[in-house]
Amino acid sequence: MSKGQSISQRAAAVKPSATLAITNRANQLKAEGKPVIGFGAGEPNFPTPPAIVEAAIAAASHPASHRYSPAAGQPALREAIAAKTLRDSSFASTAANVVVSNGGKQAVYLTCQTLLDPGDEVLLPAPYWVTYPEAVALAGGIAVPIATDESTNFAVTIEQLEAATTDRTKMLIFVSPSNPTGSVYSPDQVKAVGEWAAERGIWVMTDEIYEHLVYGESVFTSMPVVVPEMADRCVIVNGVAKTYAMTGWRVGWMIAPEEIAQGATRIQSHLSSNVNNVAQAAALEAVTGSLDASGEMRVAFDGRRLKMVEMLRNIDGVTCEEPGGAFYTFPNMKGLLGREIAGRQANSTLDLAAIILDEANVAIVPGEAFGAPGYARLSFALSDDDLEEGLTRVQRLING
Ligand code: PMP
Repeated sequence: MSKGQSISQRAAAVKPSATLAITNRANQLKAEGKPVIGFGAGEPNFPTPPAIVEAAIAAASHPASHRYSPAAGQPALREAIAAKTLRDSSFASTAANVVVSNGGKQAVYLTCQTLLDPGDEVLLPAPYWVTYPEAVALAGGIAVPIATDESTNFAVTIEQLEAATTDRTKMLIFVSPSNPTGSVYSPDQVKAVGEWAAERGIWVMTDEIYEHLVYGESVFTSMPVVVPEMADRCVIVNGVAKTYAMTGWRVGWMIAPEEIAQGATRIQSHLSSNVNNVAQAAALEAVTGSLDASGEMRVAFDGRRLKMVEMLRNIDGVTCEEPGGAFYTFPNMKGLLGREIAGRQANSTLDLAAIILDEANVAIVPGEAFGAPGYARLSFALSDDDLEEGLTRVQRLING
């Protein structure tokens, strides 16, 4: 039987993660001995703070960790997540609202599975994180991208939301600080979007995973805090990955009205059961402990952010907004399209990323991956030396 005859339509329709693909390709070139510098990965280059690792080591020797635990998460961790959320964003919830999942990514998936019926439309401001449209499609939903650009600092406007809404619109996906653009909505903008959704009766999945990574004048705003009347139609997604340099531990969560949390728990109980108990113990230490280590990482990221923006602006044909949060820049590279670089024609940012990888051994993620051709995403969660060396190579390749 050919592959095409046996694979399900659902599986065949899922696009591979373009960001992981570029990271894998960069790693492959590295393994071949090429001095590749990767701006692709969305993860801090720091180790997890020692107190968190110690908590995991201690948990590994407790027999309770060796057994199944509740599918929604360990009760102590669910309570601690509710307390941490009140501490950090002022959003009030209880353990009954919290479902602990295998990373924020699984929380996104569960949210879509729990809220969407086939044919439901989901408003998706673009550029968007690659996982959102796939999670929507896997639930039978229809993602409706809404293009944004630098003219609004990549913030969607109420007029755009209104124009994209139909009687099938069920949910809006909102993320600030944003992956991939790094842009941060102002408190007024968050309020306006939340009030619009509340008035329209539209659910919002608000992804708060970069809440602690804001720089300069930018501030993080939790939508259901500034618009309390939408709390009963809102799912918050969060996790320990970005704040505590814990991407590999795979602990995230959703905070939702109880009926939704219970629905998600039922799905998770058949999908994966409890998250690894050792990782939950690490997450408990993270969310109850101090934010000092996280603050130090933030300071390091801030320095790299400014350096990256300055170096990108020195590449002919590239413009770059200063991102207010997360750890990504999203330069506009349209000025390079149609040019010949190292004897090769760059007609799209896909071409450009391939040329930069082959000729300068530097991996960037082309904007096509995020529904935004003409742009690219560069992560600044890498060492200062690599950042400078990588961008110097791109400057040399393009400026000549
Ligand atoms: N949301 C956003 C916007 C992200 O960028 C990421 C990580 N790339 C996640 C959620 C999920 O992170 P994790 O599954 O590692 O917790």
